[in-house]
Amino acid sequence: MTEVFVQRPMRKSLLPYGRQWIDERDVDSVVSALRGDFLTTGPLVPEFERKIAAKAGARYAVAFSNGTAALHAACYAAGIGPGDEVITTPMTFAASANCVLYQGGTPVFADIDERTYNIDPDAVERLITKRTKAIIPVDFTGQPADLSAIRRLADKYGLIVIEDAAHALGATYRSRPIGSVSDMTMFSLHPVKHITAGEGGVITTDSEEFHLKLLQFRNHGIVRDPILLENESPGRWYYEMQSLGFNYRLTDISAALAVSQLDKLDDFVARRKRIAQAYDHAFLEWEAIHTPYQEDTGDSSWHLYVIRLDLGKLNAGRDEIFERLYQLNIGVNLHYIPVYLHPHYQRLGYPQGLCKKAEELYSSMITLPLFPAMTDEDVEDVIHAVRLVVSQSMKSTIS
Ligand SMILES: *Cc1c(COP(=O)(O)O)cnc(C)c1O
Repeated sequence: MTEVFVQRPMRKSLLPYGRQWIDERDVDSVVSALRGDFLTTGPLVPEFERKIAAKAGARYAVAFSNGTAALHAACYAAGIGPGDEVITTPMTFAASANCVLYQGGTPVFADIDERTYNIDPDAVERLITKRTKAIIPVDFTGQPADLSAIRRLADKYGLIVIEDAAHALGATYRSRPIGSVSDMTMFSLHPVKHITAGEGGVITTDSEEFHLKLLQFRNHGIVRDPILLENESPGRWYYEMQSLGFNYRLTDISAALAVSQLDKLDDFVARRKRIAQAYDHAFLEWEAIHTPYQEDTGDSSWHLYVIRLDLGKLNAGRDEIFERLYQLNIGVNLHYIPVYLHPHYQRLGYPQGLCKKAEELYSSMITLPLFPAMTDEDVEDVIHAVRLVVSQSMKSTIS
């Protein structure tokens, strides 16, 4: 069967793979923060924290200057230090593992499940040693990891679960909102993520101990609460730096944007889902394109739409197909280069071939544009371009 392609005019400009949605309410919210008394952490930061904690079904939320800082703080709160091992996935942004290095710990990479592309709990269990302190699962593309299996391992071996949910704000796992499942959960407020603050990050937790540690770490390790002081207070000016923290605070300007964006989260996720469904449908019968498999235990919030090419059926490689899509002004992307293949990790001694399934996925995957502000036309452009390039690359055509 040969498809006949109606000539479609080429896009005039590059369609990015992701971008923010900013409307007048966001602008008004930020402007009113600028006219207020606080520019740095003021009343809008705790307001945002209350709001996102409620949304994520957690007792506490602590906002940070970015998601990477939030992960660093979570590793600190979990007590990660030199000699400790933390197991994570290679199929993620480097920050999921870098946060362990910041604390002097050792990231250990467990391979992925070839269907969901999320960390494989059996691979995790094989890597647990006496030094293992925590697991950092990543809800890759917005699909929750196998969090029940990871919880069982954590309970069995006494580990802390820090979930990297940078892709998964608005997702659910066994009907529970992401943010309420793990010991600590991180969300990112980078502009390509579900909601943005320009830059920003959040940890949600139910633990009062973690909550206090996160607050302290975000603000230089400083404590002001009289009940928590180590020495007797000589006056109302007094505070103590009790641990080595950082300045990882979110500004009130950013929080104003985050508060306003959060009101739109449900609509954003719904729109992302509809676009993902349109892609699923469009590539259903295309043998050379594997659309993302979804477990029925979770409901993805669709940060990314990743297709896997069946390269055995194609006479062009992934890189060539990627390049041709880009030439058609479709801003495809690649998520991710397995973390340990980066030069910094190679120099630390992680061998190539460490996680075979992740490397195989990496060699055959492409991320298609997906963001709520895409028009139906944009979606059609992507579908058309992918069908065109893949059909031109098929090894044999049956007529
Ligand atoms: C975006 C992202 C981060 C880091 O978030 P920033 O806010 O950009 O620091 C961490 N992990 C994953 C998986 C991400 O996608």
